[in-house]
Amino acid sequence: MPAPEDNYRQKGLRKKLIDELRQKGIQSEEVLNAMLRVPRHLFLDKAFESWAYKDNAFPIDCEQTISQPYTVAFQTELLQLKPRDKVLEIGLGSGYQASVLFEMGAKVYSIERFKALHDQTAARLREIGYIGIRTFYGDGFMGLPAFAPFDRILITAAVPEIPQALIEQLANGGLMVLPLGSSQQFQIMTRVSKDEQGRITSQQFGNFRFVPMLPGKV
Ligand code: SAH
Repeated sequence: MPAPEDNYRQKGLRKKLIDELRQKGIQSEEVLNAMLRVPRHLFLDKAFESWAYKDNAFPIDCEQTISQPYTVAFQTELLQLKPRDKVLEIGLGSGYQASVLFEMGAKVYSIERFKALHDQTAARLREIGYIGIRTFYGDGFMGLPAFAPFDRILITAAVPEIPQALIEQLANGGLMVLPLGSSQQFQIMTRVSKDEQGRITSQQFGNFRFVPMLPGKV
């Protein structure tokens, strides 16, 4: 199989997308630089490659979506990552968000509940060269107790309440970012902090729309 291609045209389109994200209010240069390095066109089917550098969500297999670049940037910025942070992502999907976290120097663990999607994405990540990203087929509501605690937890599907197991797996001094709410129309981006004594507080950051986080694996 030929190596995945990332040519000057695609790099140019990516640069324009990053400028657009900056204009829309994303400030973290670390986040923008990481997104400048991830070849988003390789995360969509070949037929849809030309959509990759528009600031839109896009359908992927198993009726799921690759998040809008602005949403990826926004969630990643809220995570306030430090290099070498251990990050758990719920909702691997296309693997794009996981790759952005990896490019920021995080140790990335990501769970997906669709076996077909998990296997396809794990293969894609290997092909692109993101071999350090650890992917898991399973139910994100359970987290990954064997690898806990995590410095950061990122949920990329909508949840009506903060999943209890994930709060337990968040390290003291850690942050969790999640779209919270029971409406299907929109959720409120929320950042949960656990302080050094294990006390929980949360802050809200505006409305977004995600596919639902669903229990069980399929
Ligand atoms: N982060 C992804 C966005 C994927 S959309 C990306 O960058 O492409 C949300 C993903 O969460 C979907 O793939 C969906 O199947 C997955 N998901 C939903 N409920 C889940 C659960 N309980 N455990 C793990 N993954 C889940």
